[in-house]
Amino acid sequence: MLKAVKVRIYPTQEQFITLAKHFGCTRWLWNHSLAVMTETYKTTGKGLSGLTMKKRIPALKVEHEWLKECYSQCLQQSVLNLGQAFVNFFEGRAKYPNFKSKHHRQSVQFPQNVTVVSDSAIKFPGLLGLVAAKVHRLIEGTLKTVTVSKNPDGKFFASLLIEDGKLSPKSSREGSAIGIDLGLTDFAITSDGSKYANPRHLKKHERNLKRKQRKLSRRKKGSNNCNKARIKVAKVQGKISRVREDFHHKLSRKIVNKNQVIVVEDLAVKNMVKNHNLAKAISDVGWGQFCTMLKYKAEFEGKVYLEIGRFFPSSHLCSKTLLPLEKMDLSVRSFICPHCQERHDRDINAAINIRNEGLRIWASGSGVTALGRNVRPKGGRLKSTLSPGYCD
Ligand SMILES: [Zn+2]
Repeated sequence: MLKAVKVRIYPTQEQFITLAKHFGCTRWLWNHSLAVMTETYKTTGKGLSGLTMKKRIPALKVEHEWLKECYSQCLQQSVLNLGQAFVNFFEGRAKYPNFKSKHHRQSVQFPQNVTVVSDSAIKFPGLLGLVAAKVHRLIEGTLKTVTVSKNPDGKFFASLLIEDGKLSPKSSREGSAIGIDLGLTDFAITSDGSKYANPRHLKKHERNLKRKQRKLSRRKKGSNNCNKARIKVAKVQGKISRVREDFHHKLSRKIVNKNQVIVVEDLAVKNMVKNHNLAKAISDVGWGQFCTMLKYKAEFEGKVYLEIGRFFPSSHLCSKTLLPLEKMDLSVRSFICPHCQERHDRDINAAINIRNEGLRIWASGSGVTALGRNVRPKGGRLKSTLSPGYCD
């Protein structure tokens, strides 16, 4: 199975310059090739493949001598990636490729010839050589692509893609199932009754961030002081995103370790409430990142991650009797159910419904008699992302 490990690297001043040249050359080549491919597509209606563009690199190197300062496989990988981006676009999986900006995160890919020498050094091909690193875990398997990136706050990282040679684990039917309702007041409410408060990372750093952003806005664009102020803003933003990521990692790990089947709602449901007032809070909470982590962590251990469709009325059903409930105001947090006369916590009730619906889809997908009632409205669509083992 392929596994990715991201480690911090510490280039010297000289390597810093070499890396900057690598970022610059690959970015220029990407933008140049994108312009050529777009133009060709516009005039002839036909796309150019990444391979065709790769063959043009030697000619470009004659025209632009400075391209030679970049390790050639990085250049080739850059156009091949662009070719793949076009394939993804034409097959409807992605948006049209964008030009790369020198003001955003920078990255360059080494498709091979990188070795992890020790827990404190990685050897790169070409001019770069041995780079200091903090390799915090054992690298078992063959190293494939290595992506070096530089964040706007000036930190360098290397993402190591490793083939560990192991087969993906067989899914098991043993173990418990959990439904998760994602929210803003509480970050996650689970069907077993746990609530995890929303840490609101942005709010904690907001004053500091605003102050530094104000300072940046007063600086003259392009000046040295402007640059310094920009790095200060990026550092706060970097801190916020790292703390958020850490929270997501820990909670998703805990949930995946305890459960065999994990069910969440399709995130489009959550984004439906996207209005101007909540936009900031929604982007801060980071449901998407959390679900991605749940998904890959579950798949890595042969567990099942499911998303239920956006038309499933998780908060308008009694989780005991499956009978519909009247629409409630958002301020109602718990209520006495008219069907079973019990007090339901609004969010836990929804999480239980999400779990039950997920199990119903899972069971019907694998040939077991369906449980529960079909509560899809007319024209409703149920989407599930069953791992391949469960599709037959
Ligand atoms: Zn009830």
